[in-house]
Formats: sequence, C-alpha cells, structure tokens
Amino acid sequence: MIPKKLINLLSIGLLGVMPWCVSAAELHPEVRQICQQIGKKLASVSPDECLSHQYVAPRFHSVRGQPILETHFPARKGSEERVPRVLFIGGIHGDEYSSVSVTFKWLNTLKAHHSGAFDWHFVPLLNPDGLLQRKSTRVNANRVDLNRNFLPAPEFPEPLEHWQKRAKKRLRYFPGHAPLSEPESQVIHQLIDEYQPTVIVSVHAPHGILDFDGGIQPPRKLGPLQLRQLGTYPGSLGNYGWFVKNIPVVTIELPHAGIMPETRDIDRMWTDLVRWLNYKARGMSKVAQAGVVN
Ligand SMILES: [Zn+2]
Repeated sequence: MIPKKLINLLSIGLLGVMPWCVSAAELHPEVRQICQQIGKKLASVSPDECLSHQYVAPRFHSVRGQPILETHFPARKGSEERVPRVLFIGGIHGDEYSSVSVTFKWLNTLKAHHSGAFDWHFVPLLNPDGLLQRKSTRVNANRVDLNRNFLPAPEFPEPLEHWQKRAKKRLRYFPGHAPLSEPESQVIHQLIDEYQPTVIVSVHAPHGILDFDGGIQPPRKLGPLQLRQLGTYPGSLGNYGWFVKNIPVVTIELPHAGIMPETRDIDRMWTDLVRWLNYKARGMSKVAQAGVVN
C-alpha cells in the first residue's frame, strides 16, 4: 500500500520535478567539466572548491549547452512549511567575476554551517556562456542582457521598447526580442514557480551598494554595502520578482567586478543577510500567508 503522504505528493505532481528530490550529481561529467572551466577562469575559485559542493543532476542548459549548476540546502525536517526559502543567484552577468566567486565563498560557509534554519536554493552561475569564454561578456551567447529579459510588470513598458527609446540601444543592455526568450532567464522563471521562494537574492558588481525591490523593510546594509534603491528597469529580475511575482528581491552589488572583497567583508555581508532574513523574512512569510503583503 502506498503511504498517504506519498499519494498526496504524487497527486500534486511534486515528485520528480522538485530538484531537491533529485539525487546529487557531484561526479556528473557535465558538472566535472564546468567546474574545471570555472576554476580555470576564476582566480578565486579552484576546480576542487567548485566540485566540493553537491549539485543537482544538471537539468538546465545555456544557449551553448553548458549546464546551469544548482545546489540545494534543505530546511530542517519538519520545518519546511515555516522557514524562509531563499533563491540565490550569482553570475547573471558573465563579466562580473566577483559575483560568482563570492557566491562560491558563501556556498562554502553554508556547507560548513548550514543548520536547516532556512531553505536555500543556489544557482551560482546563471550565465556560463558569458563568463566562460576568452573575453567574458555581460550578455549571454545570444547577446541578450539576462537582467532585462524577464517579464515586465504590467504598468511598465515592454523591455524592448524601453531599450529602443530610453536605453539608447546600448548593446550591453539589449533585452532580447521578447521577455523570457533566453534559456537562462527561463531557468529562473521555472525555479520561481517550482521552488516558490520567500526571497530572491542576486549578486552583481561593481556599484558597491545594496539594492532592494519589495514591500517590506529592506536590510539597511550588508557588511560594507549601504542600501541605495536605484529603481527598477522593465525586464530586470528586481522588477519581475517583486512587481510581477510579489517576491522581495535583494540585489547585492559588490564594489569591483574583478577584485574580491576582503574575507572579513564577505563574512560580514553574509552575517547581515542572514540576520535580516531571520527578522524580516520570517515575519514576511507569515504576512504573505495572510495575504496582506504591502
Ligand atoms: Zn550585473
């Protein structure tokens, strides 16, 4: 006889699609290969360091067929329904090296100290084609800025129209011919629907600030980064996450794309983020359940 709990899971179609049910794939040849490439490209991440994490068997790929790595740190058993769920994304822009390297440092921290107080899902390098080439680029292999390729909020202009009229057609901000035209942005779209994060965190460089889109009190600072809300662009993850999906988005802008922050600052940013998640996101998930966000 099949246990009732299993029948429930099967009936709502969760088994087999939730990545955290998929076996880890640390020795998967695609994982091995991309970790070698990441280690070769980034001075601050070794292939062994990249391979030391347990990845979900690759199920998403970039335009050029590179695997898009995912790693999951589950909530403590029995607390899954109550704890904040954090979708964490590094390397949306391929030439922001530090955003990938620092994400790996935080993965190391989690690997050593994960307590199950939160549920984390990491995509440490969303744009492998942009990073893993001789001259790294902000855009993906189709020359699309992934951070302008999401669905815009209804009251915002179409990203392509905004780019033509307001962004002076600068190539590095090209949003693609239609929202979600790119496999890499589709990954985030799918993960948001499947994983249903409480908060999204994305890491960029080099503006040296903390940005925030959401209807709750943002973190005042993360380590040396002070809050400075820049406003949102149609098609950006902040615009999509908050204005379309009602999920607060923390955008970490590291000070330099090619220079790592001090270890002390990397640790302080992490501690401040976790502290904010603890106080704010817990309260927010209760508010969200009651349906009165904002
Ligand atoms: Zn960026």
